[in-house]
Amino acid sequence: MTELICPTCRAQWRSVATCARCGTDLLPLMRLAARAHALREEACAALLDPSRAAQALNAAQAAHRLHQTPRSSALLALAIVAAAGV
Ligand SMILES: [Zn+2]
Repeated sequence: MTELICPTCRAQWRSVATCARCGTDLLPLMRLAARAHALREEACAALLDPSRAAQALNAAQAAHRLHQTPRSSALLALAIVAAAGV
Protein backbone atom coordinates (compact mmCIF):
# COMPACT_ATOMS: atom_id res chain seq x y z
CA MET A 1 0.00 0.00 0.00
CA THR A 2 1.17 3.46 -0.82
CA GLU A 3 2.23 5.29 2.29
CA LEU A 4 -0.07 8.00 3.46
CA ILE A 5 1.34 11.28 4.63
CA CYS A 6 -0.04 14.17 6.60
CA PRO A 7 -1.35 16.74 4.09
CA THR A 8 -0.28 19.57 6.38
CA CYS A 9 3.31 18.73 7.33
CA ARG A 10 3.97 15.68 5.11
CA ALA A 11 4.94 13.50 8.07
CA GLN A 12 4.54 9.79 7.49
CA TRP A 13 1.17 8.52 8.67
CA ARG A 14 1.50 6.20 11.65
CA SER A 15 -1.99 4.66 11.76
CA VAL A 16 -3.31 7.20 14.23
CA ALA A 17 -6.13 9.71 13.74
CA THR A 18 -4.04 12.74 14.70
CA CYS A 19 -0.68 13.68 13.19
CA ALA A 20 1.98 13.28 15.84
CA ARG A 21 4.00 16.15 14.38
CA CYS A 22 1.44 18.89 13.74
CA GLY A 23 -1.82 17.70 15.29
CA THR A 24 -3.84 17.64 12.06
CA ASP A 25 -6.99 15.52 12.23
CA LEU A 26 -6.28 12.66 9.83
CA LEU A 27 -9.60 10.88 10.31
CA PRO A 28 -11.11 12.20 7.05
CA LEU A 29 -8.02 10.99 5.18
CA MET A 30 -8.28 7.60 6.86
CA ARG A 31 -11.93 7.33 5.87
CA LEU A 32 -11.12 8.12 2.24
CA ALA A 33 -8.36 5.52 2.17
CA ALA A 34 -10.67 2.93 3.73
CA ARG A 35 -13.45 3.72 1.25
CA ALA A 36 -10.99 3.47 -1.65
CA HIS A 37 -9.84 0.10 -0.34
CA ALA A 38 -13.43 -1.15 -0.15
CA LEU A 39 -14.06 0.04 -3.71
CA ARG A 40 -10.92 -1.75 -4.95
CA GLU A 41 -12.12 -4.93 -3.27
CA GLU A 42 -15.54 -4.49 -4.92
CA ALA A 43 -13.87 -4.00 -8.30
CA CYS A 44 -11.73 -7.12 -7.83
CA ALA A 45 -14.79 -9.20 -6.94
CA ALA A 46 -16.74 -7.85 -9.91
CA LEU A 47 -13.85 -8.60 -12.28
CA LEU A 48 -14.27 -12.30 -11.54
CA ASP A 49 -17.66 -12.23 -13.29
CA PRO A 50 -17.56 -11.03 -16.92
CA SER A 51 -21.18 -9.89 -16.69
CA ARG A 52 -20.15 -7.38 -13.99
CA ALA A 53 -17.39 -5.66 -15.98
CA ALA A 54 -19.21 -2.31 -15.94
CA GLN A 55 -19.60 -2.49 -12.16
CA ALA A 56 -15.90 -3.33 -11.85
CA LEU A 57 -15.00 -0.32 -13.97
CA ASN A 58 -17.22 2.02 -11.95
CA ALA A 59 -15.75 0.80 -8.66
CA ALA A 60 -12.18 0.96 -9.96
CA GLN A 61 -12.69 4.51 -11.23
CA ALA A 62 -14.22 5.62 -7.94
CA ALA A 63 -11.38 4.05 -5.96
CA HIS A 64 -8.77 5.69 -8.18
CA ARG A 65 -10.42 9.10 -7.79
CA LEU A 66 -10.39 8.77 -4.00
CA HIS A 67 -6.88 7.41 -3.54
CA GLN A 68 -4.41 6.99 -6.38
CA THR A 69 -1.96 4.19 -5.79
CA PRO A 70 0.02 1.90 -8.09
CA ARG A 71 -2.55 -0.80 -7.31
CA SER A 72 -5.49 1.47 -8.13
CA SER A 73 -3.86 2.36 -11.46
CA ALA A 74 -3.31 -1.29 -12.34
CA LEU A 75 -6.82 -2.23 -11.28
CA LEU A 76 -8.30 0.61 -13.31
CA ALA A 77 -6.38 -0.50 -16.40
CA LEU A 78 -7.59 -4.06 -15.93
CA ALA A 79 -11.18 -2.91 -15.45
CA ILE A 80 -11.00 -0.79 -18.62
CA VAL A 81 -9.82 -3.81 -20.60
CA ALA A 82 -12.52 -6.01 -19.07
CA ALA A 83 -15.25 -3.46 -19.81
CA ALA A 84 -14.05 -3.15 -23.39
CA GLY A 85 -14.45 -6.91 -23.74
CA VAL A 86 -10.89 -7.35 -24.98
ZN1 LIG B 1 1.18 16.72 10.21
